[in-house]
Amino acid sequence: MDTDEHKIELIMSLRAQGIRDTRVLEAIEKVPRENFLPDSVRPMAYADQALPIECGQTISQPFIVAYMTEKLQLTDLTKVLEVGTGSGYQTAVLSYLCRRVYTIERYRTLAKAAEKRLAALNRRNVTAMIGDGTMGWPAKGTTFERIIVTACAPAGRIPPALFDQLAEGGRMLIPVEFSADRQVLQLIERTETGFERQSLLPVRFVPLLEGIARAE
Ligand code: SAH
Repeated sequence: MDTDEHKIELIMSLRAQGIRDTRVLEAIEKVPRENFLPDSVRPMAYADQALPIECGQTISQPFIVAYMTEKLQLTDLTKVLEVGTGSGYQTAVLSYLCRRVYTIERYRTLAKAAEKRLAALNRRNVTAMIGDGTMGWPAKGTTFERIIVTACAPAGRIPPALFDQLAEGGRMLIPVEFSADRQVLQLIERTETGFERQSLLPVRFVPLLEGIARAE
């Protein structure tokens, strides 16, 4: 099978798993996942599984990328904050569905590689930075209609800055640890009066860590 056939199989499998938003499926179809992978795992680009990337991190499973993207309910007008750029794959998918993506990564190596890949795909509506996403986007007073965190927050410790930067009427998706080895994807909606939380499904993400990574 060639890449296109593998890609079509993946899209069909995402549909079978309940992803119905055709805009989301089209965005997944547009992004060459192989471009976001190290050589060693490139042949598995269209398997529906998470794969290792540089700096000991992982690129999310396509189903989870599609699921989270669908749950964000994006429009062409939405401004999205993404914490955990990683490979930049999820960023690329988001960029096809919203006005602008602001993405933060704590590893310089990953942030730089992601920026290159996104530029190669001509994704002009992405603003990327190296930083600690637990502090939110550094520009004071910024709010976002949507926030997506692709690393797991410790139990009971969703960063307060992310609540602060979620606009009223906004939605945030974030994996949260419940106990050792158990993570749940949560949807947090900001209403006029406060925050409503909903648990969606069990997930497996690398940890959300504080500070910029010094090693790489
Ligand atoms: N969405 C990514 C998944 C990357 S894995 C993709 O599609 O490839 C999660 C990423 O979150 C890792 O690269 C990790 O370094 C990053 N991360 C963890 N804590 C962070 C923080 N506080 N700020 C920014 N990035 C963080």
